[in-house]
Amino acid sequence: MQYENTIRNILKNEYRKTVQNADVTALYNAVAKAALYRVQNDWDQCRLKQSKKRRACYLSAEFLIGRLIYSNLLHLGLLDETAEYLAGAGRDIREFEQIEDAALGNGGLGRLAACFLDAAAQQGKPLTGYGIRYKYGLFRQAIENGAQQEFPDDWQRFGDPFAVRRPELRYQIPFKDGVIYAVAYDLPVIPYGNAGCINTLRLFEAESDHPFDFALFNAGKYAAAVRGGENAARLHYCLYPNDAHKAGRLLRLRQEYFFTSAAIQDMLRAFEQHIGADLVKFCDYFAVQLNDTHPVLAILELIYRLTQRGMDFETAAHIAKKTFRYTNHTVLPEALEQWDAGLFKSALPHLYKIADRLNKQMVQSLFDMGIDKDRINRMQILRDGRVHMANLAVYMSEKVNGVARLHTEILKERVLADWNATDPHRIVNCTNGVTQRRWLRLCNPGLSALITEKIGDGWITDFRKFEALAPYAADSDFQNRFIACRQQNKQALCDWLRRQYGIELSADAAICVQAKRLHEYKRQLLGALGALYLYFGVKDGSITLPCPVTTLFAAKAAPGYIAAKEIIRLIHHVANIIEQDAQVSRQLRVVFVPNYNVSAAEKLIPAADLSEQLSTAGFEASGTGNMKFMLNGTPTLGTYDGANIEIVQAAGEENNYIFGMRADEVQAASGHYEPKKIYQTDERIKRAVDPLQQEFSELFAELLQQDRYFVLADLNGYVQKKLQALEDYANHPAAYAEKCIQNMAAAGRFSADRTILEYCADIWQI
Ligand SMILES: *Cc1c(COP(=O)(O)O)cnc(C)c1O
Repeated sequence: MQYENTIRNILKNEYRKTVQNADVTALYNAVAKAALYRVQNDWDQCRLKQSKKRRACYLSAEFLIGRLIYSNLLHLGLLDETAEYLAGAGRDIREFEQIEDAALGNGGLGRLAACFLDAAAQQGKPLTGYGIRYKYGLFRQAIENGAQQEFPDDWQRFGDPFAVRRPELRYQIPFKDGVIYAVAYDLPVIPYGNAGCINTLRLFEAESDHPFDFALFNAGKYAAAVRGGENAARLHYCLYPNDAHKAGRLLRLRQEYFFTSAAIQDMLRAFEQHIGADLVKFCDYFAVQLNDTHPVLAILELIYRLTQRGMDFETAAHIAKKTFRYTNHTVLPEALEQWDAGLFKSALPHLYKIADRLNKQMVQSLFDMGIDKDRINRMQILRDGRVHMANLAVYMSEKVNGVARLHTEILKERVLADWNATDPHRIVNCTNGVTQRRWLRLCNPGLSALITEKIGDGWITDFRKFEALAPYAADSDFQNRFIACRQQNKQALCDWLRRQYGIELSADAAICVQAKRLHEYKRQLLGALGALYLYFGVKDGSITLPCPVTTLFAAKAAPGYIAAKEIIRLIHHVANIIEQDAQVSRQLRVVFVPNYNVSAAEKLIPAADLSEQLSTAGFEASGTGNMKFMLNGTPTLGTYDGANIEIVQAAGEENNYIFGMRADEVQAASGHYEPKKIYQTDERIKRAVDPLQQEFSELFAELLQQDRYFVLADLNGYVQKKLQALEDYANHPAAYAEKCIQNMAAAGRFSADRTILEYCADIWQI
């Protein structure tokens, strides 16, 4: 009652509205604020309790948190109550689906950060997230004439009611061309069901000291009068829509410094306020995880701040080494961040000096260890006029981790081999995970209820409980009810696609989903060519599909990534070719779902009959999309890559569909791979590729000449495995449901709760 009264009061006092007549923004803000009031006290208490203890901080340029209203209500036990209350007033809680996602991230890396925050709060582990409160999140994608168009994502236009501005947490960021302020906004990270602790995601916004120059204004120079404020605000204006390489330049560097400096200053403030003045103990209280190289400047900033407070350089560097840990997310050499030394030096001279000194220290100590010159040279932080952020990160981190077993092996053997040879214990594996609360309980309530009916609701907070589903895999009643849940989710997806995009889809087809950022190594091109392969096969009768099949693609391409955008255009082209053939399109469809984001994933994943994870083996560090599908009982059609390998090992190869070259084969084939031969000798492949020749000549040429990602080499294997999966799905539904359930029963290992407990034990010592 109290909660409902609060909602009514906020609407009345702040909006002059009632529940009945409030617009959706007002209603959303009132409900969210009322929920926030509920946790305010507990949140303060958790923060106070943690302030005297060792804790971890997660520094990340991205937190892809998505829509918070439903998950926060769920975790507070208010979701059903709110739905009923709103329904009683003639409203529908689904109206909040109009609220834009907080897409403060690009893809997997940012979503991982969000899942980790959730998991740590659930496990009662003190973990504070630090990042940037981007005004514009990842762009909104629209499709015009089959091509991607980007529009700004002004997610805050609905308000940001869970955020609490902390004007007292305001830090000076010393840029060479003037000081900018970083002001904190805190978001509560609320655990499910009165367990764990309420943690904080602290995001910084940039502010100018002089947002408005009165003298200039009086002189009639209106634009110049506000320039100071605009210059500051530009820092947090937008997320770099680039999830791997080809990042922007100076603004990006300034963004990285902006939030890492603010984070370090905030930690030092907390330390001095709650622990004391003996800064040598800093590393006893703070374990700082660097999510990829974007926050690596924090290392230099900590040393800078410690020496500013009178500590000598050697000690400060030593403290920093015990404070930081670094997660690597890629094996692509072009994605390892580097800065032009001149640019770095002119933008951040005080940090450049420290980097230079660390580099000299490092070279000396490696030399003293007897390491040869060539190797030392490769390991340098400053080399060839560049600042190598990964080298800085590895040198200065207590632990370095990869994100799946294969990825960590590749790091040790290739990408970071020099480092591994000097210190074989530094590089460890910590396989990624996803939160089962958002990625099953929230997004798939029907299946969640079925699971809870059989094994209780412990699985929501205890990942070990998933195993208890194994005995039900062969239970025909459970299988049938699983199938009924899936069917409902498919229908819900079809309804959503019609409402949202006017896309007409049948829930009776097998639904195959490839949803992730668009990247050549992720091989959406393989998915598209596979569809053409099937199309020509069905058309000439050489392939008979066991049931109607719909393949859904959903992916954003980085705006400057030409090949990725061409692949989006190709997917639409393929969809059109098939659509125009009335005969085949009854059996086979390709549909592109625009604007992939967390909320779209929450619709797509529970409805998928098959999870397509097609990356070239050795290139996908882990993947977390694959885990979300598994959790919802969807078999993987994929390569032996990233966490797919561990998924299949846990759930059984017989319950998944693995095809294609292995990572070592890909490695061995590099240099003498001849895609043109495949094209010339296999008629089925030739006719799948030929439609690209005219309108997609660059994709065509790349496939025939280089095919860097081995698309043609894996095309036959992919199509055959897909047909086998479809055959199982259509003709052996009980056996297929058994595979689905076996996947769910093995999904506990891929809970972010497991991952976070490993970080706490092996990496953070918390
Ligand atoms: C999980 C997720 C990803 C990561 O997907 P991968 O298949 O692991 O690349 C990307 N974007 C969104 C919106 C997600 O929810």
